[in-house]
Amino acid sequence: MRERAAASFATLRDAATDAEGMGEIRADYSEETVIVTGGSSGIGRAVALGFGDAGATVINADVREEPKDRDTGTPTHELVRERGGEATFVDVDVSDPAEIEAVVDYAREYGGVDVMVNNAGIYTKSRFRDVTPAEFDELYGVNARGAFFGTQYAAEDMISRGVEGVVLNTTSDTQGRASWDHSHYAATKGAVRMVTRSAALELAPEGVRVNAVAPGPVATEIREGWSEEASEFGPDGETPSLPLRAATPDELADAYLYLASDGASYVTGETLWVDGGGHVC
Ligand code: NAD
Repeated sequence: MRERAAASFATLRDAATDAEGMGEIRADYSEETVIVTGGSSGIGRAVALGFGDAGATVINADVREEPKDRDTGTPTHELVRERGGEATFVDVDVSDPAEIEAVVDYAREYGGVDVMVNNAGIYTKSRFRDVTPAEFDELYGVNARGAFFGTQYAAEDMISRGVEGVVLNTTSDTQGRASWDHSHYAATKGAVRMVTRSAALELAPEGVRVNAVAPGPVATEIREGWSEEASEFGPDGETPSLPLRAATPDELADAYLYLASDGASYVTGETLWVDGGGHVC
């Protein structure tokens, strides 16, 4: 187990990339408009591509259009189009509720939002005793406030159009269990879990479902410099918390497609762990 604790992020990423047997859960979203925040890279990019492949019109709402280094190449909306889908990019900072409201309004040009994926997130690594108010507020603004108002504005728009839409929030394995060096990040993700549950309760009578996905370690840009140290393990390196391995972003995407589908019509307020089994440890 110590060997795994010492494994570099590159090792985890390579193991994930080599993984076989990724499932296929696809539904027909050809009549639907899906907003994905943070869709320029990582999990959001994979989710956007998944919905695009399934026929949805995808709006990628991100602070930047270009993919990050790991996702070299074509911007997400162009890639969706190359694969035969419909997509566009909107410059949105989810920490500003007015910008979220604007992109929800913009989606009306495509018939209005049917599925809202509040996925944009940031991470910093700090010991609990070192977290500053500014660092806390920065993470909270993007991760928690972004998901809160993304849920609120999207749901309001769905209700006003009489649409029984779906909101999906990206939380984290840290939403439900303690881990080292990111108590402030975990606090934001715990908040996202509770936004999901509370909104699901209040929005159910309107036919709007709200669910979350809790990824474990996924080989994306946000994790650079994260897994190489003790985050997945105690400082003694003795406590394994990852039965499987790091995931590829593609391995997350189908969870979102499932939760947005009619197959999940009786699922709301749920947080689906897609974490390699980490939460059972
Ligand atoms: P990533 O860094 O590859 O992608 C995050 C995206 O969010 C980027 O495209 C970035 O530009 C965008 N973004 C950042 N701040 C934004 C803002 N203010 N407004 C709009 N867009 C913004 O990382 P990822 O791993 O794909 O992260 C996606 C989500 O998954 C995040 O919420 C993250 O907390 C969560 N998550 C990731 C992991 C993991 O191991 N990678 C684990 C658990 C949860």
